[in-house]
Amino acid sequence: MAEKAILFDTTKCMACRACQVACKQWNELSAETTKCEGTYENPPDLSHKTWVKINFTETERNGSPAWLFSRQACMHCTDAACVKVCPPKALSHHELGMVTYDKDLCTGCGYCVDACPFHTPRTNRNLITGIAKMEKCVMCTTPGLDRVGNGLEPACVKTCPPLALQFGDRDTLVNEGKSRVSALAAKGYSNAYLYGENELGGLHVLYVLDDSPQVYGLPVNPKISGVTVATQSVIQPAGMLLGGLTIVGLGLNFMVAREAKLAKEPGRAKKEK
Ligand code: SF4
Ligand code: SF4
Repeated sequence: MAEKAILFDTTKCMACRACQVACKQWNELSAETTKCEGTYENPPDLSHKTWVKINFTETERNGSPAWLFSRQACMHCTDAACVKVCPPKALSHHELGMVTYDKDLCTGCGYCVDACPFHTPRTNRNLITGIAKMEKCVMCTTPGLDRVGNGLEPACVKTCPPLALQFGDRDTLVNEGKSRVSALAAKGYSNAYLYGENELGGLHVLYVLDDSPQVYGLPVNPKISGVTVATQSVIQPAGMLLGGLTIVGLGLNFMVAREAKLAKEPGRAKKEK
């Protein structure tokens, strides 16, 4: 099955934030209580109940003030640090390429929060039960709220008035993104760039940028940290081995102690003669 993706064209986004609202409405996420901080950017950050957010960057272009708008949400990486680091394997790749998770398996350890190069997943602890769970965008594939599996585009894409968001086959969107970047370069945007084509093995959210990634607050050449790789390939297996050895050791200890106790029981020695 062809992998799917979202193409976000920063040059078309007008920061209406309809995508933020549509995401909350479709995924049944409650509103945030926020304060006016003197900016239209609101809420101030992603959270367990805000899975997509439009970031505002104030800059100067041709001597005039200008706003740059960017989207912050899960990038659905092919080489996904969150998937690599998750001990109970709650995070996984959907057959269409996006990164989803099984909330029942999540233990709320927060390893994915620390490992994600885009600072996307967030955990929330229930104050009554004490149980923590991770939350993030799943590109509208939550069981029971699955738009993509039912042939629909994600809610954010469906609602975007200027069509800054587009959903479809990843290969098609990569070609579309490249041609938009070429058109921008022809207009004099010499740093225009298609972000996500190759980063982390290919992202399933592609950005058409009219300037370099760092201007939009995106990491240049994002990488999975060495700590993440070590956690996956050394620390977790070592921990499991240690846990296994501990259980075997406790079992042997129990058997030896039981034998010693039985040997001291009156009558047992006689019976065995
Ligand atoms: S709905 Fe579209 S135009 Fe509005 S903020 Fe989201 S991406 Fe930008
Ligand atoms: S952006 Fe972060 S949470 Fe999303 S797939 Fe990549 S590593 Fe995982």
